[in-house]
Amino acid sequence: MKLKIAIQKSGRLHDDSMKLLHECGIHIHNGMNRLKAEAEDFPMEVLFLRDDDIPQYVEDAVADIGIVGENVMHEKAKSVDLVEKLGFSKCRLSLAIPREQDWNGMQSLRDKRIATSYPRILQNFLNKNKIRAEIHEISGSVEIAPGIGLADAICDLVSSGSTLLSNGLKEVHPVLQSEAVLIAHEALELPKAELLRQLIFRINAVRKARNNKYILLNAPNEKLEAIINILPGMKSPTVLPLAEKGWSSVHSVVTEHDFWQIIEKLKANGAQGILVVPIEKMII
Ligand code: ATP
Ligand code: ZN
Repeated sequence: MKLKIAIQKSGRLHDDSMKLLHECGIHIHNGMNRLKAEAEDFPMEVLFLRDDDIPQYVEDAVADIGIVGENVMHEKAKSVDLVEKLGFSKCRLSLAIPREQDWNGMQSLRDKRIATSYPRILQNFLNKNKIRAEIHEISGSVEIAPGIGLADAICDLVSSGSTLLSNGLKEVHPVLQSEAVLIAHEALELPKAELLRQLIFRINAVRKARNNKYILLNAPNEKLEAIINILPGMKSPTVLPLAEKGWSSVHSVVTEHDFWQIIEKLKANGAQGILVVPIEKMII
């Protein structure tokens, strides 16, 4: 019994999807066979597919699970479970118009032609906003549509916005925030559901570790209390005496998010020799 996972064959999701599996201790030797590969150390088979096809394959149980962008998941609207957000390939689907045009809110789109590769998501968005507009579905290079007179506006994926800029467009309204997600067939039978549970457990350990750092520092004993109060830690920090009298070594875990603030406070309270090291896995 193997858990079959569908991964984008090549493109923006591929590398981070493979990296996540690797960090979960699942190593894939992608041999001569480019469509399928077996994991060495987990009962898993990997299918390499176009991302657009993955929701359908998961619905049909050709693959048990898959990794796709939320944008693709919503556009395809297949019957699959969203199991877990994965935190990579973050982008947004946004409306953009030619830079020189005025934007007076959603009204500006009324009866306009909007080019997109995401007709379903866009139609739902327009319905919700009670705007009638004409949707032109095109499969690639949506950003050139206004320039060649094919559309008045576009609805496309944006991350930095540089593609819009170089095509004389400006982003005017977000439609959907997206990141990579793990999807699963709706009715996985038990041995596979148990494998999926193990995979999710590993993914969570990897993702928590990425967001945390292990910190070690030396502190004069009279400052210990203040320093311990600054450090959140998993439970409470480890404190060990140093060979030098009157000093202790303090170990704890801090989140990436408030990392620099904490370092500043620690320094201000007399901490010395601060070491920060990455955590590989974190199980709470
Ligand atoms: P395929 O050949 O598999 O159909 P594609 O050309 O449709 O690939 P990619 O451009 O590789 O797709 O993008 C895959 C996914 O990556 C998108 O559906 C989206 O979720 C995410 N993505 C797209 N653009 C960006 C971006 N600029 N930054 C980060 N993530 C993005
Ligand atoms: Zn695609």
